[in-house]
Amino acid sequence: MLTKTLQESWSQFLEFIVEHCSATEYENWFASIRVLDASGEEIQLEVPNIFVQEYLLENYKKDLCAFLPIRPSGEPAIRFVIATSQKKILLPAPLPVAEPQEQGAPHPDLKLNPFYTFNHFIEGPANQFVKSAAMGVASRPGKSYNPLFIHGGVGLGKTHLLHGIGHYIRENHKKLRIHCITTEGFINDLVDHLRNKSIDKMKRFYRSLDVLLVDDIQFLQSRLNFEEEFCNTFESLINQNKQIIITSDKPPGQLKLSERLIARMEWGLVAHIGVPDLETRVAILQHKAEQKGFRLPQKIAFFIAEHIFNNVRQLEGAINRLSAYCRLMGLDMTEDVVHKTLAELFQYSPHKKISVENILKSVATIFGVRVNDLRGDSRTKAIAFPRQVAMYLAKEMINESLMRLSSAFGGKTHSTLLHAWKKIANQVETDEMLRRQIDMARRNLEV
Ligand code: ADP
Ligand code: MG
Repeated sequence: MLTKTLQESWSQFLEFIVEHCSATEYENWFASIRVLDASGEEIQLEVPNIFVQEYLLENYKKDLCAFLPIRPSGEPAIRFVIATSQKKILLPAPLPVAEPQEQGAPHPDLKLNPFYTFNHFIEGPANQFVKSAAMGVASRPGKSYNPLFIHGGVGLGKTHLLHGIGHYIRENHKKLRIHCITTEGFINDLVDHLRNKSIDKMKRFYRSLDVLLVDDIQFLQSRLNFEEEFCNTFESLINQNKQIIITSDKPPGQLKLSERLIARMEWGLVAHIGVPDLETRVAILQHKAEQKGFRLPQKIAFFIAEHIFNNVRQLEGAINRLSAYCRLMGLDMTEDVVHKTLAELFQYSPHKKISVENILKSVATIFGVRVNDLRGDSRTKAIAFPRQVAMYLAKEMINESLMRLSSAFGGKTHSTLLHAWKKIANQVETDEMLRRQIDMARRNLEV
């Protein structure tokens, strides 16, 4: 009967987690864990990578011990197995790589923002996974996850992490040749070399790199001619176990790029960077203030973080403006001053914060149904489908625990919500009409 007990204990642990963490955290860390065996004295869990294992033990050891048997050493009785089933695809033979580059500095023209280091990147539940992945790749380039694909919304620290990897490798793997480029930069480079008939030189350069950092790959969409050259460069490097890190505003599957390139990008580790929660935003604000040499009172930090919640760049803009204003006017930082200085940035007042209620209203209007029906139990398609769309939007737009979100839908369970989210997320990739409806709802909510 042990089988059932261990399996059940694990399920109970997950239920506990669902109640205590945000949807993003759950999705990043817990959703992919599988129970391989629960029949012995320890539970065997399959985790997608070592970061998940470390994260669990670092952050939830106490809770794991509360739900699962404990070893004499005090550790929870878990045996972790790292999933080996990386989606392998057969890559074509490497493209002919030219003679080794002329020996020069190993970091030709590496331009990195000096502030974008790992040390200056503040961790919270929404970005811990991606930060560990970035640090993992930086410490063993080409040997862990390749490529590492980082995606998430604007101003959430993708470029920061990319440069963080660059800094780390430059300092700790001095012999490696790194290049960091925006996708626009890559395209411009290509255009220049095509014009100067020096394309071979460019190929030689890219193919001699050990680490390639590519920012904002979404700009490669609908640039067919360039996509192919990028894909060739990419394959050539990957085939030689050279590390590639890519950032994007969408996951690979949602990019309008060739299937070949999408499959390559999904090959390694795809990591999402979410919107930081309130505590993390406060920590970021205080860190940025410290970097700029002033102290931000706790109360003010909370005040700003409560008003600006979906973009770290705006948080930074807020304290820049605030410090400049106070210095110029010789004022103390009070809530009143903050209010005056930042009025524009506070375009979303807290009561306009996106809520399940607003989402339901917006979706009901778009689909011509009633809010009460969406909250109800009707399973007819005309109601159930918009309800799933609303659940999808709630999970995408509100950083709350799945538990709380689902109960706002008239007491649905978190697995209903997760199921709806997955279904709509898949469908939206191919269903143009649905995509438009969702965009409309989003715009509606963000105004
Ligand atoms: P993205 O590339 O995702 O649009 P950036 O990397 O340019 O975003 O980040 C925008 C700004 O926010 C940068 O100044 C960056 O340092 C800051 N930032 C974002 N996330 C964090 C974080 N977790 N800790 C500290 N600063 C952050
Ligand atoms: Mg960026």
